[in-house]
Amino acid sequence: NRLSIADPIRTNDIMRKYKLRAKKSLGQNFLTNEKVLDGIVDASGLQADEIAIEIGPGIGALTEKLAQVAQKVYAFEIDENLIPVLADTLQYYDNIEVINQDILKVDLDQFVKDHNLEGKTIKVVANLPYYITTPIMLNLINSDYPFQSLVLMMQKEVAERITANPGHREYGSLTIAVQTQMKARIDRIVGRNSFIPRPKVDSAVAVLDRLPKAEIDIDDPVFFNKVVRSSFAHKRKSLMNNLLNWQGRTDESREKIKAIFEKCGIAENARAEQVSIDQFKQMAEEFKK
Ligand code: SAM
Repeated sequence: NRLSIADPIRTNDIMRKYKLRAKKSLGQNFLTNEKVLDGIVDASGLQADEIAIEIGPGIGALTEKLAQVAQKVYAFEIDENLIPVLADTLQYYDNIEVINQDILKVDLDQFVKDHNLEGKTIKVVANLPYYITTPIMLNLINSDYPFQSLVLMMQKEVAERITANPGHREYGSLTIAVQTQMKARIDRIVGRNSFIPRPKVDSAVAVLDRLPKAEIDIDDPVFFNKVVRSSFAHKRKSLMNNLLNWQGRTDESREKIKAIFEKCGIAENARAEQVSIDQFKQMAEEFKK
């Protein structure tokens, strides 16, 4: 009847025992709210024959919860000072492997192959370091290995951006980068008091499930991204103006873009944030012609 690692009493004991000072530069905010942790594990739907990949185990609060339900947990932690701490706090589990690596430098597709995990259901579950949420998330989404589901705690504002609908202030190129591959929703908002030390911002648990193959139908992702990024280049300019900056400010370009707008059902004075993902897909096809 040990206390969970996430129990604030135990977290403080561990930090005292190892003289740990949470490193701001590595986004170290340890979760000390067990209800939230249980909610994260529930949201992942992890089963006894499934694999969990965790990013940034910290002192192991989420890791131990994952180990209690999954077949195996692989946890990537960049901070070498935490490796002996994790060896101690997670000693009661034989299905956890902690890997001392920067997740941004890991070839996850190769990792899956090297560990004979192809054919397994692999879910990524993490309380992400906020300073690199976006690159980590986009790497996971665009990895050659198509992870089925990602349950990621992140800054609330980022979660709002990736789950936004057209017409909302938060809707932008990040929304589109995520929603062309994944169905995204917010599972819950988590206040800053659930962490030691307390961050300056609130958080949210986002659940991202891979879309069916047939719905991921972009022929030329590089060109599609070019169209999207050009469209959102200057948030306060109209879509037409942003696209003219990209295509060149000639009468010819203007006429071409007008015709494309008409085909895609986009108003002449529209802003990029009003354009749906399907309309962006259609626009990209038209520009390519
Ligand atoms: N999972 C723990 C929890 O929920 O209490 C800690 C989460 S804390 C927000 C983020 C963790 O990510 C820290 O342990 C930090 O050292 C680690 N981290 C930061 N950058 C990383 C990177 N590039 N690769 C792997 N881990 C990283």
